[in-house]
Amino acid sequence: MITEVVNTKELQKLDPVFGQMSFDNHEQIVFCNDKDTGLKAIIGIHNTVMGPALGGTRMWNYNNEWEAVNDVLRLSRGMTYKAAVTGLNLGGGKAVIIGDAKTQKTPELMLRFGEFVHSLSGKYITAEDVGMATSDMDLVRTVTPYVTGISEEKGGAGNPSPITAYGVFMGMKAAAKYAFGSDILEDKVVYVEGIGNVGEALVENLSNEGAKIYISDINRERLEEIRDKYSVTIYEGDNLYAEEMDIYAPCALGATINDETISQIKAKVIAGAANNQLAEEQKHGILLREKGIVYAPDFLINAGGIINVYAELENYGRKEIVRKTENIYNTTLEILKNAEINGVTTHQAAFDVAQSRIDARKLKNS
Ligand code: NAD
Repeated sequence: MITEVVNTKELQKLDPVFGQMSFDNHEQIVFCNDKDTGLKAIIGIHNTVMGPALGGTRMWNYNNEWEAVNDVLRLSRGMTYKAAVTGLNLGGGKAVIIGDAKTQKTPELMLRFGEFVHSLSGKYITAEDVGMATSDMDLVRTVTPYVTGISEEKGGAGNPSPITAYGVFMGMKAAAKYAFGSDILEDKVVYVEGIGNVGEALVENLSNEGAKIYISDINRERLEEIRDKYSVTIYEGDNLYAEEMDIYAPCALGATINDETISQIKAKVIAGAANNQLAEEQKHGILLREKGIVYAPDFLINAGGIINVYAELENYGRKEIVRKTENIYNTTLEILKNAEINGVTTHQAAFDVAQSRIDARKLKNS
């Protein structure tokens, strides 16, 4: 399950939207409903100071609507800081469609969703996220220009997952340089949790470098498929956090770094693709720091995907996508060092860079 584990009872005690704990001065939240296609979607626009709010659409079978609201609020906020720390002229947004992507995603539903996106006149630009494919974005493109992540055949930058994984790999190398004094990952023990689109591409990068890779996933078939393609070991235990390892790479769920896991984690470095890895940013950032675990902030190192889709808006090519993504190495190293100098968590250090860019732009715009 990609969405975070949330306590629905706790959520229900709060006011439905503006009172949610994940509400963080979001500019606009749009609830989309269409009886004919069964579409129930929420578009969250967190902040548009730096530019239009860009972020993918996630289709997920949420347990209830509270979880969906919570997810879109958290994810859209994350996009604001991801774009700003990466230096892109984009704001933060995200959409969720409530339902099972395997059984409920129809062309009609996607087209109707596209019309809702279009009705926002470009304030929100969509892309793919979990439960979506490039072909879905191609379909949405037939009803609105406010979509990225479309296929290369249709003039887009294609599937963002490999480039996301490459950025994560760069961030991981920078964190290794900081923690171990070398960014060479050969023989480093790396656990990749979640070997979906990004996880697999990360495994490929790691295996090219000779890392000792362990993989874990709830999908057995997928584990076997990856094992047959790369030199990896399937983790057969039931608590990978407690295993001896150099690097833990969360590439599935959010919130896997929490009260329960931090006390067990033996990794020296955490660097992965999943969004919102820290269950509570402040508290868990501090706990990691106290344990001496080098945490490469998720929204910083998983920005390859947004760099890839931004290319469609700015018309830059593959070379520039790769250059910008490789720069994640330098930014990560700089942020890890700044965090140490300023005595703050690495998450906070990355957040501060993003916030100062947003504040400066706001001043300029006013
Ligand atoms: P995906 O759906 O292709 O893969 C996720 C994988 O995680 C699946 O194989 C699934 O079976 C597995 N999984 C689910 N729950 C698990 C659990 N409890 N333990 C182990 N494995 C579990 O998704 P993806 O596109 O690879 O994205 C992975 C993560 O990276 C997501 O959190 C996503 O939001 C984030 N991310 C993706 C991109 C991108 O370009 N695709 C960009 C930025 C961030």
